[in-house]
Amino acid sequence: MSKNTKAVAKKQVKTKASTKKATTIKSVAANYVYAFGKKTDGNATMRDLLGGKGANLAEMASIGLPVPPGFTISTEVCGYYYDNGKTYPASLSKSVLKAIKQIESQLGKSFGGRSNPLLVSVRSGARDSMPGMMDTILNLGLNDVTVEGLAEISGNPRFAWDCYRRFIQMYGDVVMGVQARSEEEEDPFHEILEKMKRKLKVETDSDLSTENLKALVDQYKALIRKRTRSAFPQDVFEQLWGATSAVFSSWRNERAILYRQQYAIPAEWGTAVNIQAMVFGNAGDDSATGVAFTRDPANGEKVFYGEYLINAQGEDVVAGVRTPNAIAKLADELPQSYRDLEKVRNKLEKHFKDMQDFEFTIEGGRLFILQTRNGKRTGLAAVRIAVEMQRERLMSQETALLKIPAESIDSLLVPVFDSKALKAAPNIGKGLPAGPGAATGRIAFTAATAEAETRKGNKVVLCRNETSPDDLKGMLHSQGILTSRGGVSSHAALVARQLGKVCICGASEVVINYEKKTLTAGKVVLKEGDYISIDGSTGLIYKGMIESADSEVKRVLEGSLKANKSYTYELFQTVMSWADKHRTLNVRTNADTPAMAKQAVAFGAEGIGLCRTEHMFFDGERIDIMRQMILAADEVQRRSALKKLLPFQKKDFVGLFKAMEGRPVTIRLLDPPLHEFLPHDDVVRRQLAEKLGVPFDFVIDRIKALHEENPMLGCRGCRLGIIYPEITEMQARALFEAAAQVSKGKKAIKIKAEIMIPLVGFRAELADQLAIVHRVAAEVMKKHKIKIDYLVGTMIEVPRAAITADEIAHEADFFSFGTNDLTQTTLGLSRDDMGLFYDQYQSKEIYNQNPFASLDQTGVGKLVELAVERGRQTKPNIKLGICGEHAGDPMSIDFCHRTGLNYVSCSPPRVPIARLAAAQARLRNK
Ligand code: ADP
Ligand code: MG
Ligand code: MG
Repeated sequence: MSKNTKAVAKKQVKTKASTKKATTIKSVAANYVYAFGKKTDGNATMRDLLGGKGANLAEMASIGLPVPPGFTISTEVCGYYYDNGKTYPASLSKSVLKAIKQIESQLGKSFGGRSNPLLVSVRSGARDSMPGMMDTILNLGLNDVTVEGLAEISGNPRFAWDCYRRFIQMYGDVVMGVQARSEEEEDPFHEILEKMKRKLKVETDSDLSTENLKALVDQYKALIRKRTRSAFPQDVFEQLWGATSAVFSSWRNERAILYRQQYAIPAEWGTAVNIQAMVFGNAGDDSATGVAFTRDPANGEKVFYGEYLINAQGEDVVAGVRTPNAIAKLADELPQSYRDLEKVRNKLEKHFKDMQDFEFTIEGGRLFILQTRNGKRTGLAAVRIAVEMQRERLMSQETALLKIPAESIDSLLVPVFDSKALKAAPNIGKGLPAGPGAATGRIAFTAATAEAETRKGNKVVLCRNETSPDDLKGMLHSQGILTSRGGVSSHAALVARQLGKVCICGASEVVINYEKKTLTAGKVVLKEGDYISIDGSTGLIYKGMIESADSEVKRVLEGSLKANKSYTYELFQTVMSWADKHRTLNVRTNADTPAMAKQAVAFGAEGIGLCRTEHMFFDGERIDIMRQMILAADEVQRRSALKKLLPFQKKDFVGLFKAMEGRPVTIRLLDPPLHEFLPHDDVVRRQLAEKLGVPFDFVIDRIKALHEENPMLGCRGCRLGIIYPEITEMQARALFEAAAQVSKGKKAIKIKAEIMIPLVGFRAELADQLAIVHRVAAEVMKKHKIKIDYLVGTMIEVPRAAITADEIAHEADFFSFGTNDLTQTTLGLSRDDMGLFYDQYQSKEIYNQNPFASLDQTGVGKLVELAVERGRQTKPNIKLGICGEHAGDPMSIDFCHRTGLNYVSCSPPRVPIARLAAAQARLRNK
C-alpha cells in the first residue's frame, strides 16, 4: 500500500496559505453564517471558511444553477466547538434563526409548521472533501405533526411517511448512536426494514405502502427508545441542534481521523455545517436522485458517467442499497431531465475547469444540483484527464501538471495480468470496473480478516456485499476490493479511486454469504482464504491466482512494445516531457547494479546519486573474501584480501559507468558496521573457518570483538575508512581504474565520478579520507596518462555535520543529504524500532507523517536548511543533493526545491514520480 495514499506537497503548501486567509477573515467579521440561494454570501474561493461543499454550493447558486436555498455554518465554529467544551458562540443561534427565516420566506414554507413544513438537510463539509467520512441528516423538521402536513400539501402520504422513516433512521443512527454493535451485526434499522420486506414479500423499499411505512416509523421509534432509553425528539429546533452537533462531532470520529492521516489533513481545519432546504427525489416516478461525473473517474475517458435511482433519496445511491441505473438510461426514463443534466455537465466543467463529481436530485421533473466538487479519480484518470483537458484548452500545461498527484504517474507503471495467464484463467463473473489494475489474493470477507491476513504476510482481496466507511482500514490492507452490490459511486468505488486500489463493484451475480463464509458465482463456490483475481480495468473476476506482467509503459521503454501502440505510453510521455520542461531540480537515482541503473535511465534518471558499494559485497565468492578481510588479524592479511576484492569492485564500477553513459555517478565508500557481513549461525561460521584455514575459535573471537551494542551509532561510515585506510584505498583504486578503463578506446565514455564519504561529522574526518582518495587518483591518472573528472564530497547525515557545514565545505565538492540517518540521529530514533509505539503515535496524531517516509520539514528540514546556508557561505557553488528515502516523496521534493538543492536521488521506480513532483514544486513556488 501507500503509493497513492501519501498526500502531495500541494496540501502542505495550501495549509500555509489557507491558515493565513482564515485568520484575516476572522478579524474582519465575526460572522458565522453564510447564506446561499436568492442572496449568496460566499463563493468558491472561500473553502477554508465554508468547506468545499459550502463554498461550491454558493458558487453554483451565484452562476444560476438550480441549488435549493440554505446556509453554511463556518469551519471557525467547529474550532470554537472543540475549544469550548462542545458549545457554540453566543451569537450563533440568532444567526441561524435568521437564516432559517430567509429560507422560509424564499420558499413560503415554515420550519416546524403544520401546513407547509420546511424540511432541511444538515450536511458536513470540510475544506477538502472527505466523502462519507462524516455525517449527513436528511428530512429534518419532520415530527408526528409535520408529517401529516407534508402528506396533505404533497397530496402524497406515502411520500411523507417515506421521508419520516428515513429521517428517524438517520437521526437515530447519527445523532442518537443506534448502530450495529459489531462488524457481523447488520444495521438495526436496516434489519427491521428487511424483515418487513421479507414478511410482505416485496422487492424494494419503494414497494412499501403508506401503512407499511407508518408501521416502520413506529418500530424505529421503539428501537430508539429501547436502545437509548429516550424518545425520538419532536421539537424541530432540538432536532436541528442535535444534528448540527452530531456533524461537528463527526469531525473527530475514528474513520475521519484515519482518513485525515491518509491525506495529511490537519485536525485544526474542522468541518463546516450546511443546512439546506430539502428537495425530494422520492416524490414519485418522475423523481430521482443521482451522482454524476463529467468524465469517467476510473479511466479518465471523456464520457458522461454516473448513476441514479428513480423515486429515491441521495443516500440510497451512495450507500449501494439498491443497484442504480447507469446515467445513460435516464435519457429514456426522463428525457427532459437528462437534457438538463447534460447542460449542467457542460456548464460545470467550463466553469470549474476540472472534472466535476456532482450530486443531483430530480423532484417532479425539476432538476436540482446539490453538490459539486473536483472529482476524485484514479491515478490513470488523473493523468488522462489532465492531458486531455489541456488539449481541449480547458487548462494550461502548468495547471494540468499541478492537477496530477505526482504519485499517480505510478499507476501507469503498475503490473497488469499476464495476457497468457489471463486467457487460461477461469472467468467466474463480471462487475463494474471501478479501480483499474490487476489484483490477486486470498478472499477475505471482513475488513478485520483482511487486516489480520495482510499482517501475516498474505495478499488479500476484500470481498463484501458493500463496503462502509468502517471498512476503510481493511480496504487499505487489501490488494483489491470486490463488492456484489452498489454502483460506481458506492463507497467501495469511491475509496478505490482515492486510494488507487483495484476495485470491481456491483458484481450482481456474485453471492457473498458472510455466515457461511462463501462466495458463489454461478456454479463456482469459493471459501474465505481461497484465491481470487480481479481485473479492475475490465471488471472481470477470475478464480485462482493469475500471474502479472509489466505495464505497457515499461514494455515500450524496454523496446518490446511500439510506442505508437500504447495510449498509456503517450500519456506518460506527454506528462514527463512537460515535467522536464518545467523543473529545475535534477533527478538522479539510487542504484547499485548496472541493471538498476539502466532501468532508472529508461525512467529518466540523470545520474546516480547514491551507489551503495556494500551491496556489491554480498554476492557469491565475494562475501567470503569480504569476510576474510574483516576477520584479518593485521593489515598485511587485510591487504591481501582487499587485493582479491579489487577486481570485483572494479568490474562493478565499469558496469555502472557503462550503464550511465557519461552521466554523473556518485559512489559511496563502505558504510555499514562490519559485523553485518559476518555469519550468524555456528554451522556457517565453522564452514567459514575451514575455508579460511583458521581455527573456529578465532572466528568466534573476532566476531565477539566486533560486537557493538548500538551498531547504528558505532564503527561505521567514514570511521571504518579511518581505522582501515586500506579499505578506502582499495575502493578508490577500483573506481579510478574502472574510470580509466572506460574512458579509453573506441567506445570511450566521459566519466563524471563523485566519491562520497559517509557519516562525516568533523572536517578532519573528511580531510583524512580525502587525502587517500586524491593520492590514489593521482597514481592511477599518472599510470594511465589520463585525466579523470571527479569530485569528492560527503554525506550530511548527522546533526554535527549540518551544524558545522561551513567548516566541512572547505573540504567537500558536494554535500548529499542522507536523510534516513539524519532523521534517525536528529530524532534519536532508529527506523527499525518504531513498531512498538508508532500506531499510538499515529492515532494521537503526534507525527503528521511517518518521518522516514516524508521529511520532517520543521525539524530535520531545519538542519538541511542550515547546512545549505553554511555550506554555500564557504563554497557558493557547492553541489547539493539528497539521497535518502525522502528523495522520492513529493512533499519532501517540494522542500528540496524550496531549499535550493541541485538534485534529488531516489530509487529507480520512483524516478518518474520525482520528475513530476520536481516540476510541480517549481510551478507551485514560482
Ligand atoms: P457527503 O458529504 O457524505 O456526500 P452529503 O451532504 O452530500 O454527504 O449528503 C448525502 C446525500 O444526501 C447527497 O448525495 C444528496 O443526494 C442528499 N442530500 C443532501 N442534502 C439534500 C437536500 N437538501 N435535498 C435533497 N437531498 C439532499
Ligand atoms: Mg455528497
Ligand atoms: Mg547513512
